[in-house]
Amino acid sequence: MSTKEYSFSISNPHRIEMGIIQRVGLIMALLGVSILFLAWFGINVPNSTILLTLSLLLIVIGTTIYARQIYLNTPKGIKNNHIWFNTLSNRGILGWFLAIILTGFYVLLYWFPEYLGYRSGSEGLNQGLIALFDPLSYFFKGTMASQWFVYGTLYTVLIIALGIKFIYKYRHNRYQVIRTFAVIISQTALAYLIPEILAGLNYNDSTNARGEYLGWYDADLKNAWPLDYDFFNEWHLDAMQAEAYQPLGMAFLVWGIIFFLVLTPIITYFVGKRWYCSWVCGCGGLAETTGDAFRHLSSKKLSAWKLERWMIHGVLVLVFIMTTVTLYGYFAESNTILGLSIYEYFQKPYGFLIGAAFSGVVGVGFYPILGNRVWCRFGCPMAAYIGLFQRFKSRFRITTNGGQCISCGNCSTYCEMGIDVRAYAQKGENIIRSSCVGCGICSAVCPRGVLKLENGPLENRIEGKDILLGNDVDLMEYVNNK
Ligand code: SF4
Ligand code: SF4
Repeated sequence: MSTKEYSFSISNPHRIEMGIIQRVGLIMALLGVSILFLAWFGINVPNSTILLTLSLLLIVIGTTIYARQIYLNTPKGIKNNHIWFNTLSNRGILGWFLAIILTGFYVLLYWFPEYLGYRSGSEGLNQGLIALFDPLSYFFKGTMASQWFVYGTLYTVLIIALGIKFIYKYRHNRYQVIRTFAVIISQTALAYLIPEILAGLNYNDSTNARGEYLGWYDADLKNAWPLDYDFFNEWHLDAMQAEAYQPLGMAFLVWGIIFFLVLTPIITYFVGKRWYCSWVCGCGGLAETTGDAFRHLSSKKLSAWKLERWMIHGVLVLVFIMTTVTLYGYFAESNTILGLSIYEYFQKPYGFLIGAAFSGVVGVGFYPILGNRVWCRFGCPMAAYIGLFQRFKSRFRITTNGGQCISCGNCSTYCEMGIDVRAYAQKGENIIRSSCVGCGICSAVCPRGVLKLENGPLENRIEGKDILLGNDVDLMEYVNNK
């Protein structure tokens, strides 16, 4: 006979006990992570091929078992129970601990990769964590691993493992399931496998060197300008036109230009920015899967909304100016403008502050403190660019059936972009916000079916409703202004 106790309370106040299988899953996943830490701390590993395979498999299989046990043992529906009581997801000790580890990892990755064990060929062989990934790197492209190869591999494994967890959790919602499959495939195929395989194939017999420019970063077909802010840099433009990289180089160059100039506006017109931010983008993919447990931590303050608009559009303007100057320099065949080095004065600070510190260190490192979409909300120039189309020229909107809203606030709580969805729902107003990434979670967690992600005609898409919200409005002023 089962000894499991069931609670009949709708808001069960008791701790949820973990079953034995769930514990096994958790221990497996933690073991997989421990292998990475052991390697990082310099414990010499005898056979890194077996240990690496074991580590990655334990992470994926352990997480799957763990998630399966939590979600398949309970009825379908959102399970965010205890999220505000869990020290990991309520900015408690564990949350801060994780934030410090993640931030530290990013700092080392960007600026001190030698502490992860990275050695360039001339400095000898890789050590520690980076050396653990050498066999996989040799398998793909016949070279030692770089810190970026390790990062790309771990990034992809996290999206797969926590994507599976996400699918179990939201299995009642077809939109979430399909979207998450798309994110996993996009990351695995477009951002990881294709670039790595291309880097391996791009072998230059005469110099006995592997191709550099169609490697991990540049061959990611979906990494477009303005997110890929150095797309128009001299070294990149030259490499894409270099004879050694034809015909792929030119194909990638043309694709990159058509992607941001033609495809992005057209697709955003039809379905909103969700196709990129929630279905395709790697940053969005990590936020939706690995960051799912932290989505409720996004600030809903009015001041955060104001700051967001200044910051994200400021970054877009910055990329635009930087790119214009860079292109001017490229065609004028000069590396300086008014005596200033284009790279030193524009690209370098941007790369340090926005490309590394903001998108990586703060963007992911601070998931457990600021929520999972800090970068997408405050800093991503691509989100700003497509957000403008979404706001002014798109068929996308979230419709609200205000009469059904019970003001529970679930939608606002779980909106990772800090949008006060409930305020729109109470008024029965369409939600048309440039920042909305169309993740659909507000709709998925709504107990009353109030919210629907839809594409429709442009006419009357942004319509205010004459519904008065008590204390928010001075009634006499409102009537006099009518
Ligand atoms: S409003 Fe809804 S769909 Fe848009 S970002 Fe927020 S939760 Fe996602
Ligand atoms: S989740 Fe649904 S019912 Fe609750 S406040 Fe939002 S729209 Fe209203």
